[in-house]
Amino acid sequence: MDFLPVFMNLQQHDCLIVGGGEVATRKTSLLLDAHASVTVIAPSLTDTMTEWLESGQIRHETRVFMADDVKGKSLVIAATDDENVNKAVHTAATQMNIPVNVVDNPDLCTFIVPSIVDRSPVIAAISTGGSSPVLARMIRSRLESLLPSAYGRLAKMTADFRERVKARFTNPNDRRLFWERVLQGPAAEMVFAGRDSDAEIEIEKSLLSDDAEQGDKIGEVYLIGGGPGDPDLLTFRALRLMQQADVVVHDRLVSQQVIDLARRDAERIYVGKERANHAVPQEDINHLLVRLAKEGKRVCRLKGGDPFIFGRGGEEIDTLVEEGVPFQVVPGITAASGASSYTGIPLTHRDYSQSVVFATGHLKNGMMDINWPGLVQPNQTLVFYMGLVGVKTICKELIKHGMSKDMPMALVQKATTADQRLFTGTLENMPDIVERENIKPPTLIIVGEVVKLHDKLNWYNESEYWDKS
Ligand code: SAH
Repeated sequence: MDFLPVFMNLQQHDCLIVGGGEVATRKTSLLLDAHASVTVIAPSLTDTMTEWLESGQIRHETRVFMADDVKGKSLVIAATDDENVNKAVHTAATQMNIPVNVVDNPDLCTFIVPSIVDRSPVIAAISTGGSSPVLARMIRSRLESLLPSAYGRLAKMTADFRERVKARFTNPNDRRLFWERVLQGPAAEMVFAGRDSDAEIEIEKSLLSDDAEQGDKIGEVYLIGGGPGDPDLLTFRALRLMQQADVVVHDRLVSQQVIDLARRDAERIYVGKERANHAVPQEDINHLLVRLAKEGKRVCRLKGGDPFIFGRGGEEIDTLVEEGVPFQVVPGITAASGASSYTGIPLTHRDYSQSVVFATGHLKNGMMDINWPGLVQPNQTLVFYMGLVGVKTICKELIKHGMSKDMPMALVQKATTADQRLFTGTLENMPDIVERENIKPPTLIIVGEVVKLHDKLNWYNESEYWDKS
């Protein structure tokens, strides 16, 4: 190890920055974040530095550096583009044993400034020992996505309870177990979901409970939107919860690649639904979730797209509420958004569409229960979920209610996956296309002038049935 990682307390300590340019500004900003008292020596300042000077946040000496400037300083940073000045700063500081950093010159540094992920009071610092700042930044951005932004708030809350927890659990091992439960359990999840006061109540509750193991008894359900297929479209929160769940209950719609991202040793339960062939009735799914949570498990209920868009998510949490099972809902990218971006068909457009309607095209006893006149409006995009089987009805009814038979229409099969296929046509010819092609579910239907934009905005060619006349 070439450098020892330490976190320095610089609050109200005198620190020196030599240089007044952009780099010096960034370093000054860091020192100000750490509540240091900063003096800048430079012939001129950036606008930001000037603002700090005017608001009294920094001191400024408009002159060149002199060796005596480092006297009494706790830390010195040189950020000039003059090599001689940088060297002089280094020499002066090292002679007095003052930690010094010369930006972009590891040989002249007694300390280096790491890349940081700031979730104050939680700070993760990454250093490559000055060998590759770009690599350090790349590692940092990976950590940024791994560490929930609410870790800071969680840590602060932990601090507020620390003394009481110490008094409650005198045995350090019990204390550790208590904190592990809090930091991986419902209280932490509440903080992540912005429900801080609920989290405090939850911690209070576990503190007051009789034995250290309690609170562990009831699990939790995460109702997660797994997006339309491409695993890259998961949210950070979805991924984090999938990786901590003990059991994953998933649908047919969720892609295998997404399921594979769940914790390796998590139990997987398939409750897939095929049209008219419900593998597990909805009611049973609702109760399964309750039962698993009551066994103390963290249950990931993984759904395709977004759980609250034709996902029956509402019914599932209804039962959870009735049974007092804690839960949270994580939104996902719905099929309409996925299909739209992956085919270059914007759902709204200044010139063609000022509104978009998501409708179900599900056939019940050969009928579709839909307010057709409401759908046939100028400058409106229609998106039909579950409409593949009923495509003929959709086209017929839209024409019957006044939509032009030449209205552009698109079918997107398995959007965002490697099996994505796009068929474009019109209300008039789409039923024939569906008959001719072996189109597989899940398929999304988009109707509206915006479909035409695909020609211009898409980046690959597919089978086209556009009215060429
Ligand atoms: N909750 C889901 C929708 C469930 S309803 C969401 O928000 O996306 C099921 C219907 O969604 C399917 O019949 C199909 O119309 C559509 N769908 C879901 N995933 C799709 C995909 N990858 N490509 C095309 N359509 C999809």
